[in-house]
Amino acid sequence: MFTIAIDGPSGSGKSTAAKATARRLGCRYLDTGAMYRAAAVGCMSAGLTEPADVAQFCCDMDLDISTDPDRAGVTLGGVDVTDAIRDPEVSAWVSRIAVNPDCRTELVRRQRELLASDSFVVEGRDITTVVAPDADVRVLLTADEAERMARRGAELGGRVDEAGLRDQVVRRDKDDSTLVNFTVAADGVATIDSTFLTPGEVVDQILMLARSAGITVR
Ligand code: C5P
Repeated sequence: MFTIAIDGPSGSGKSTAAKATARRLGCRYLDTGAMYRAAAVGCMSAGLTEPADVAQFCCDMDLDISTDPDRAGVTLGGVDVTDAIRDPEVSAWVSRIAVNPDCRTELVRRQRELLASDSFVVEGRDITTVVAPDADVRVLLTADEAERMARRGAELGGRVDEAGLRDQVVRRDKDDSTLVNFTVAADGVATIDSTFLTPGEVVDQILMLARSAGITVR
């Protein structure tokens, strides 16, 4: 069993790279951001804003997330929230979960439980440092701010203006980094700057690190 941990800011290309790497290795894929987003959807629809209520919700929520790199799927209390978690309002709200230490503790616990069950490529903000500091491969994926905003804009199909993109990328990363550092690689974490790389080149670099860690890459 192995774990490949990938951290990075919004728009760094983490999801694309992590999913493609998992496909190549025939292993599972965990999008930890989707767990934070699902918690946000639940709190928003229940009208919870007090940190203690938000933390209690995280502890009690019945969350199920697909770990198949070819099938995105998130359910909360049996309700499919796969599309809802991508709403721009959720992107704006989710930092309240990220800055709540009790929510983080609970989500980290759930993530570790999943990672202990199989081989995974897992992506997020605190995977290389908190969730899986002993992972076989640890990568910090970065990209220039302008490039990250352009990628997020393309992902959203041009529906969001420059101010909206800045909020989703720059403001969110600033808020998210109050409890977690994902801008500087921790000791032993390899940095891959994807600004001038194609998604395929990023995957090749991760696979090279996987081979060096003794993981079989076919
Ligand atoms: O990666 P994504 O943009 O979907 O993550 C949504 C949010 O979840 C981030 O903005 C951040 O607030 C939070 N997050 C986190 N730690 C992780 C993954 C995501 O705080 N490991």
